[in-house]
Amino acid sequence: NLKVHFKLPGTLLRPKSGGSVKAVDGVSFHLNRGETLGLVGESGCGKSTTGMAVLRMTPVSGGEIHLEGEDITHLNGRALRPLRRRMQMIYQDPFGALDPRMRVLDIIGEPLKVHKLVTGRKAYRQEVLRLMDLVGLLPDMCERYPHEFSGGQRQRIGIARALAAQPDVIICDEPVSALDVSIQAQIINLLKDLQEELGLTYLFVAHDLAVVRHICDRVMVMYLGHVVEVADSETLYTNPQHPYTQALLSAIPIPDPRAESRREVDPSIEGEVPSPVNPPSGCPFHPRCKHATDVCKQVAPTLQDTEDGHGVSCHLYEPQSEAEPSTRVASM
Ligand code: SF4
Ligand code: MG
Repeated sequence: NLKVHFKLPGTLLRPKSGGSVKAVDGVSFHLNRGETLGLVGESGCGKSTTGMAVLRMTPVSGGEIHLEGEDITHLNGRALRPLRRRMQMIYQDPFGALDPRMRVLDIIGEPLKVHKLVTGRKAYRQEVLRLMDLVGLLPDMCERYPHEFSGGQRQRIGIARALAAQPDVIICDEPVSALDVSIQAQIINLLKDLQEELGLTYLFVAHDLAVVRHICDRVMVMYLGHVVEVADSETLYTNPQHPYTQALLSAIPIPDPRAESRREVDPSIEGEVPSPVNPPSGCPFHPRCKHATDVCKQVAPTLQDTEDGHGVSCHLYEPQSEAEPSTRVASM
């Protein structure tokens, strides 16, 4: 039931008039060891904020975060340090995330110093070279500076830096969306290989479903601070139930023109994402939903978690055993 609400400044005459932005508003999920959970939604839906909150890098307004049974929601100062090592982040912008005045050797090596993971210059250098090899960078690159590298190489540096801390969990915040399409697959494959080799757990934030398809075991779709659907990847891509997930999937171009013409769902999502300052009443998706009824405008649906792990937050959806949800949605 994680909540991250940001207070907005009021006006001079009415200082309390600011209200708040409910960036994350009651989100619940679990992350299994060794899996990749995708977190997908349009910009402003709260996905990055959720990732930051899990890492305890942004204040939590409500709910709890547990790591292997330990409640880490209120850890502070010194107590946060082991957590800072165990959970790392890979950023969207490999250009902004690296200090331009530092050599690669020191960028990647910094976590080794901070968390006292090696002793002595020689062991330090050796460990950095090992990490560089792990992500496909050549040893002689360690004396160079970030601006001398391409986008893909910089992201490799960012990944090596995250790995230096020997983390268990990595939040990947749109790690390929700033890269050329041709480079994206290389980085995704690298992340996949590293996961297998090192037993890593990923929360993989992305703004479109196409990117996460080949790396995620499960996918969670967010809209305006809420999770609207969660399922294993296979189910989510072949049998999406929430109208928003269906619309997001329809927006992915199908390379085969014959398949494209057989599309069943209209690819358009009407309108814009509403402001999280004044979110719509009832179901947050109702102003854009083709299936919205009067109930949707008044009553917020809750995420129905079913035995098979397929959860859908929509009044139209009933778990598979009780009805045929796909025909129900289609017949509205
Ligand atoms: Fe659409 Fe209603 Fe379902 Fe919301 S609850 S997604 S408005 S049908
Ligand atoms: Mg973001």
